[in-house]
This record gives sequence, structure tokens and C-alpha cells, in this order.
Amino acid sequence: MTAEGQRGHNARTWRTAVPVPAASTAGARMADAAPEPLGPVAEAAMDYARRLGWPLTPGFPVDGRHCGCGEDRCSHYGAHPMPGAWRIAACATPALVRVVWRMCADAPVLTVLGRPVPGAARLGAIQAPTLVGVAALELLAKRSAASGPAVDGHGRISFLVDLGLEGEAAAGKAAAFDCWREAGLELAVLGALPVQEPGYVPLPTPGFTGLRGVVWAVEPVDGRALPSFEAVADVFDRAVRSTYPSLWSSVRARPA
Ligand SMILES: [Zn+2]
Repeated sequence: MTAEGQRGHNARTWRTAVPVPAASTAGARMADAAPEPLGPVAEAAMDYARRLGWPLTPGFPVDGRHCGCGEDRCSHYGAHPMPGAWRIAACATPALVRVVWRMCADAPVLTVLGRPVPGAARLGAIQAPTLVGVAALELLAKRSAASGPAVDGHGRISFLVDLGLEGEAAAGKAAAFDCWREAGLELAVLGALPVQEPGYVPLPTPGFTGLRGVVWAVEPVDGRALPSFEAVADVFDRAVRSTYPSLWSSVRARPA
């Protein structure tokens, strides 16, 4: 398919699949007519949409200390979606991504969890503090069935996983990590049902580097299914044990 044909195809897919506000429709017509050169952030977002098909949404920029939302000590720092209609649309097609990033050209790219994506029945993430995350990465590197993409930044490592279809099972999976949060360790499952706040993971974005951004700890492989939650979660007990032995024994020594 030619580039022109691909654009037309993408725009048609988007029109039939996603109800959109009027402003976005106008943008799509422009994308059909004469594509403008895109900035590096929009190019990166389009590339994610093409290669991964994950739902994307623009986030507030961060500067290494403050979140662009203006909130002091923002609890969603680095993964704070911008308010707006596109947050609901959570675009996964290149045509819609182009429209959205024309309106906020410098917004870092977040992926939206809790939805079906190519290679996973429900996109989720296990999020760990950096030290525990590094220990988990070492353990996972020895298990090919559990190897999948992970991003590193803002003091945490997020492992992208397939949470599976069943809502209750996914909620149970999230609850299984509660003991660590209660012990003060920010180890969490994001994207599990019930989805009030679906959870967002920042993806590496040009211009957002160092303290301002995230990098791939493990790059995604095109067309490869995400590892199951169980396969990845399996190593975290050992990862916590090797990183924080006294915390591990205090949690594991408690009566069930
Ligand atoms: Zn914020």
C-alpha cells in the first residue's frame, strides 16, 4: 500500500471505530488532505501506534521535579494524562494519534491500561520501585516466557503484561500485591478491573530524557505477545527478598 493509501485507510478505520468530537473530525480531514510535517514527539507517538497498537494519550510534561498540571507533589507525576476528549478516545490508530498530537505537539506519550491490545487480552503493568525493578529484570532475563517490554524512569520500573480477560481474576491479581503497599513498598498492579482510573504508563518520548523522562529497560518486539501477569509477577517475591530482606521477612512472617 502506498503512503497515501495507508493514510486513507487509517482515517477510515478511525472514523468507523471511534466516536470523536467535532474538533477532531476537522483535524482528520486535514490529515487526509495535506499531511503537515510532524514534530519528533508526534512522530514517536505515530510510530508507537503503528508498531504496538496500544491506546495512547498525551500526558502533562514534567521537568524532573514538577508536573505540568501545577499540582504540588502531584501523585500522578510522570503519568498524568491531560484532561480532554482524547483521554476517553485513547487513540490507538496512527490517524487519530496524528490529530491529537497536532493539538499538543510537545506532550509526552502515555499508554492507557486496562484495554485489549494486539498481543494481550487486557494491557496491564506491574510497577515497582527502581531497585526492586532492577532485581526483577535480572530474574526475568533468565525466563524467555516472561520477557516483555519494561520502561524505567521517575524512580520506578513498569513491566507491561497481559492481565487476561476476566475482571475478577484481574482484581484478585491486583489485590495480591496489596501486602507490599501496606508495608510501604510501592509495588502495584495497574490496569486491573474495576477500572475507575485505568492507570497510565509513560513511554519514552523525544525531548523527555534524564530526570524528565523514561527509557526502555526492555524494548518491545514488534508482533510479540506480552507475557502473562502470572509469569512476570512470579519473580517479584524473590526480587523484594533480595533487595529488602528485612521488609520481606516482616511481610512474609505475618499470619495470613
Ligand atoms: Zn500532575
